[in-house]
Formats: sequence, structure tokens, C-alpha cells
Amino acid sequence: MDHEIAWTPGAVGEPSAGPEDVLRLLRDAVRAEPGGRVELLVAECEPCGSGEVEFEVAKGECFCVGCCIPLGIIDGYAHPGAAYPWRLESSGAPLPPASPGPGFEPSDLPRCPAGHDLFHVAVAFSFAADGVLRGISVGLRCPEDGALCLYVDNARVVPRAA
Ligand SMILES: [Zn+2]
Ligand SMILES: [Zn+2]
Repeated sequence: MDHEIAWTPGAVGEPSAGPEDVLRLLRDAVRAEPGGRVELLVAECEPCGSGEVEFEVAKGECFCVGCCIPLGIIDGYAHPGAAYPWRLESSGAPLPPASPGPGFEPSDLPRCPAGHDLFHVAVAFSFAADGVLRGISVGLRCPEDGALCLYVDNARVVPRAA
């Protein structure tokens, strides 16, 4: 398998266990560029309200369980302040697996080690010193058992013609 997702056990049973866990994972994983900054946020869904929204994840995109609206990780609408079309390029670590065609292969659908397939999602946006969005990372947290993984590892954001 060319893209092995590494899961780590979450802080099960700790009072703070929750989406903060996955923010911590991203904070440790994502380095700001010199002069740049990193913005971390827990993914929410406007139509479904804030709170701990759960997402289905497939082919590198996250879909709200309540309304199926995608976050826009792979095509550029994940960040409210940078809503332009983009595509992602690998910056070393492979991008999440995505089989060709509209259907889904099992490898397209990440599962935690216990087999759960709904997740809390946190996103890290890395901005360069000039304020341009350069990179995106996505962390997943299983709400059932707290397992964590870095799903998108510092993918480069490349503007794409609309
Ligand atoms: Zn929703
Ligand atoms: Zn799980």
C-alpha cells in the first residue's frame, strides 16, 4: 500500500478528549513557513450548526454527515477567507488515496483501527509571509474511541483556473 494512514490512540477518558485532541495533533505536525503563520480550526458545517460535526471522509474530501456538503479540502472552499478554486499537490507525503472514476474503493474510505468511519475533522492552513495560502493539512479524530490520524499531510495548495 503506498499510502498507509498512521493512527495514534487518542486521549481516551481524559476530560479534554474531543476535537482539541486533533487540533493538538495538527499543531505538532504543521510548521509555519518563515514569516508565515498557521491557522487551525475544527471543521464545522454552517447548515448543521456549530458543535462537534461529524464527517464522512472519501478520496481526500470530508462530507458533513448531516447534509453531505463537502468541506472543500480538495477543491478550495475549505477556508472562508480564501475561497478560490485550488488543487492539492503532494509536498513529500502522499496525498490521500483516490481511485479513478466516480465510485469508491475501500482504500478511498479511511477507517480508524476499530473500523469506525465517521470523524471529527480539523484543518490547518499554512500561510506564507505574504499572506498567501500555501499548504493544508487535515486531521481526523474518531469520536467513538479517540483515535487520531493526519489524513492530509501538508499538501501544497496550487491555484487552479476556475
Ligand atoms: Zn451539514
Ligand atoms: Zn474508532
